[in-house]
Amino acid sequence: MSAATSEIRALTASAFRTPQKFTDFCRNGGKPLGGIIDNEQVAGSMNATFQTIDPGSLEVLATVSEMGEAEVALAVAAAERAFHGNGGSSWRNAPVEERIELVNRLVELCERDRDVLLACEIRDGGKVSELAEGDFTQIRACAEYFIGVARRIAMGDGPSMQVAEGVQGFTYREPWGVVAGIIPWNYPIVLTSWFMFPALLAGNTILIKPAEDTPLSALYIGKLAQEAGFPPGVINVLPGRGEITGNCIAENSGVRFISFTGSPGVGQAILRACDRHGTRMKREMGGNGSAIVLADADPEVVARKVGRYTNQHYGQTCCTIHRVFVDRKIADDFIDAQRAFFNSLKIGYQADAGTQLGAVINPTQRRRILQAQQETVARGATPLLAGGEAQVAGKTGFYLKPALYRTEPGLNVNPAEVFHTYATICPVSSAEEALQLANSSPYGLGASVWTKNIDRGVALAKQLRDGTCQVNCHNSIAYGLPYGGQGISGGPGGGVNCEETFLDYTQVKAVYVADYPA
Ligand code: NAD
Repeated sequence: MSAATSEIRALTASAFRTPQKFTDFCRNGGKPLGGIIDNEQVAGSMNATFQTIDPGSLEVLATVSEMGEAEVALAVAAAERAFHGNGGSSWRNAPVEERIELVNRLVELCERDRDVLLACEIRDGGKVSELAEGDFTQIRACAEYFIGVARRIAMGDGPSMQVAEGVQGFTYREPWGVVAGIIPWNYPIVLTSWFMFPALLAGNTILIKPAEDTPLSALYIGKLAQEAGFPPGVINVLPGRGEITGNCIAENSGVRFISFTGSPGVGQAILRACDRHGTRMKREMGGNGSAIVLADADPEVVARKVGRYTNQHYGQTCCTIHRVFVDRKIADDFIDAQRAFFNSLKIGYQADAGTQLGAVINPTQRRRILQAQQETVARGATPLLAGGEAQVAGKTGFYLKPALYRTEPGLNVNPAEVFHTYATICPVSSAEEALQLANSSPYGLGASVWTKNIDRGVALAKQLRDGTCQVNCHNSIAYGLPYGGQGISGGPGGGVNCEETFLDYTQVKAVYVADYPA
């Protein structure tokens, strides 16, 4: 995701050099990197490990211990102790300024080790450096925003009211307790920040479950949190596969609240598990973003913009554009310009200068994308750029070519998220037809209208069935505005990056107090 104003060129401008500190961290003195529980590195009782690789070169970066049921239970117990305070000071009752001080210290340490965290995003996450650098800035931006919110929102007793003769009532707002963040691989630093800062500042103790493809940044942040002085048990990091570690978190009733970001299918499964034992949940899930291009738009300028947003992190961005509806009057010019833009993207190793389109994250994603390309044609789309595998000299990563298709209204050629530089372009006869087609998806995360007529654009954008509706921009985020999904893309929960997000990490009780009976 990008800040609304930033211009994503999706580029590694100059070659990225991996810092020695990152390599040393990954080596961990020859031992697998353990999870972090109660401020200790934990190897894991299953003796299971997994390797995390650079998707562009297939180099093994680190071996990581997988956390099982026992470690999840240990982490929940540690987080509960830290929340309630074991006879000593508790995180829940720590003054907000004390929490803020620790958060600020953590942000400073992240900035001290910026190059290590950039290496996590670029090498482990496969990102071009421009995007990784943009993501890195979100650590401070997110922390500062939620520090402001934490100072504004009153926890504890709300105003009291007389509810009956001799009976007073008031609300009491408190943190949940142990809260888990289940994070996907595509924006590890950003999404860890979006979870961690509001949850901690509201007074919860946390478990971070990074994706198995990108565990390094969360483990490094966990290490920095120890150095910052967070008390044991406040921040725990549990690496492992979703079906093992993630599932154990979902099944542990000691976890009072889960913040999940990932695919709708997994989010639905976790919600069902949570519901069985009363754990609350918020979900931020996938999208199948659309762009509506009106007849007054300049086809070349807009095709380039739309192309950039389609290619942000090689299309591995939840709100990215996969479906374009363009007025028939300009469709041919738009298609020519978009094809030229896609063709101009430099496919290469993500840490090499000039790369705009790097490798996808893992072989499963590569297979899914190739299948989706075939499926698009089988459903009736005409390939303009057929996609398929790409070769990068001297590298053996998961490289794919961009894919672009022409389609017609009535052909539902891309019903599901494809997660690559992939788009279908559908010529339409009116903005209303475009709106109806854009809204026909079960997803509802991000959509945009492109036009010189801002008033018309705004009027159409408001009718989009998406959590983020944009005019002449896409993939937008801003602290203070909710980022969430409609349809199968999100909820329950008020989205991320707004006051509602902070409130999601709290619960409100009603307290009634009657005079002692005569
Ligand atoms: P995923 O759903 O496969 O995995 C997400 C996380 O859930 C990972 O940590 C994974 O280990 C864990 N997990 C998997 N199975 C689990 C289970 N059975 N129980 C508990 N945890 C489990 O998603 P992904 O492939 O890692 O990420 C890509 C998806 O995330 C895309 O759909 C993308 O659109 C979405 N996404 C959404 C947002 C948003 O803000 N809405 C942001 C980024 C990514």
